[in-house]
Amino acid sequence: MNEYDSNRLADVLRVSAGLELVDTPEEADVLLLNTCSVREKAQEKVFSQLGMWRPLKERNPALVIGVGGCVASQEGEAIRQRAPYVDLIFGPQTLHRLPQMLGEVWSRRQTVIDISFPAVEKFDYLPEPSVKGATAYVSIMEGCSKYCTYCVVPYTRGEEVSRPLDDVISEVFSLAQRGVREVNLLGQNVNAYRGVVVDAQGVAAGEADLALLLHHIAAMEKIGRIRYTTSHPVELSDSLIAAYGEIPQLVSFLHLPVQSGSDRILAQMKRGHTVAEYVAKVAALRQQRPDLTLSSDFIVGFPGESDADFAATMDLIATVGFDHSYSFIYSPRPGTPAAEMVDDVPMDLKKARLAQLQALINQQAAAISTAMIGRVEAVLVEGISRKRSDQLSGRTANNRVVNFSLPGAAADLSDYIGSFVNIRITEALPNSLRGEVQP
Ligand code: SAH
Ligand code: SF4
Repeated sequence: MNEYDSNRLADVLRVSAGLELVDTPEEADVLLLNTCSVREKAQEKVFSQLGMWRPLKERNPALVIGVGGCVASQEGEAIRQRAPYVDLIFGPQTLHRLPQMLGEVWSRRQTVIDISFPAVEKFDYLPEPSVKGATAYVSIMEGCSKYCTYCVVPYTRGEEVSRPLDDVISEVFSLAQRGVREVNLLGQNVNAYRGVVVDAQGVAAGEADLALLLHHIAAMEKIGRIRYTTSHPVELSDSLIAAYGEIPQLVSFLHLPVQSGSDRILAQMKRGHTVAEYVAKVAALRQQRPDLTLSSDFIVGFPGESDADFAATMDLIATVGFDHSYSFIYSPRPGTPAAEMVDDVPMDLKKARLAQLQALINQQAAAISTAMIGRVEAVLVEGISRKRSDQLSGRTANNRVVNFSLPGAAADLSDYIGSFVNIRITEALPNSLRGEVQP
């Protein structure tokens, strides 16, 4: 999501303020830091980065330094107090106002702060996203109204808001015209999408859910593959489960964060579902898509997490057969209910549990890769292989990087970028697969 926001920041500054990206901080007139505050470590990095930029400002007082994103949203004025050389503070919902804010800094030479959650759709003010390659992110909803007890997101990004159905459809259509073949629909809880549908007169006439949006996108001939992230188990509706039986372009890979395999911890986290409910949804999905692989976020060492709670998480990982995870040690975030709980799991134990969890998932991922040997996979070609300039590199539906050569050495490799090629997998390496073109 932050990568997406950073790209939109670059787009808006290029189109509306006439700025260009340069290669090094030393060459820049404006330095912007997009920030994350979901965990403590990410937040700490902000001030160390600002410290590194400070000498540049001392050398060039005209340099504008800005901080955006969730740390800006959370800290606001406190950033200026701790780092007075910061000129611009903007939140995730005000990045479209950046050209105006920058204009104010230039003309008035004083710090400008706007971390509000304006009711207006920021997307109406952002230029069309630039296209880089065959894959594009499309933000369809933002914010979160779930308030899990450990999480700052609802406070830093605001409540859930969805873009109207027509806006999303026309953005995807325009991307497809410009060479995009795979879209990745983005949202903090992307399956909580409820986009306004308007009638021919432009009057609101109902709401579309994610399943309906997927059907519309699947009807676009040029879009061969659809992903979405991040989804919430509670919002995994029957219509979305059914979509796996109806929409072949929808990948057989789903990021469905569960956080913990213990009912007690899930309740403390206020996730809104039990382990059994999660497992039942996975089973229903696999009824539609027997080859579905899943990934999840996990929090290890939540307050009160016992050996038995952690063992339950390990059991769930084995039961579901997770292929991948974003797993982290719990860190208390200011202003959240969990920050009031006693953070009682010793750090050494948290670290040991995290290592154990990641080892199991890596082992499962390796087994999934090995089982792919001999299978023919549709690979969306992304570019020339990083290690061998005579090979192409692309991704399978389940997110594996595959490197392969083309038969007939004279072929122009770059012609294949952005197309789907059938590849028989021949070898599974720790971070990628090798394969050959299937005639
Ligand atoms: N909306 C998504 C995730 C958004 S935040 C969901 O609910 O699944 C991304 C991830 O950061 C979370 O899934 C969680 O695993 C992690 N996270 C959030 N707050 C955290 C905290 N206080 N400590 C450690 N990890 C945290
Ligand atoms: Fe945070 Fe929970 Fe919302 Fe995910 S669902 S963003 S973890 S509050």
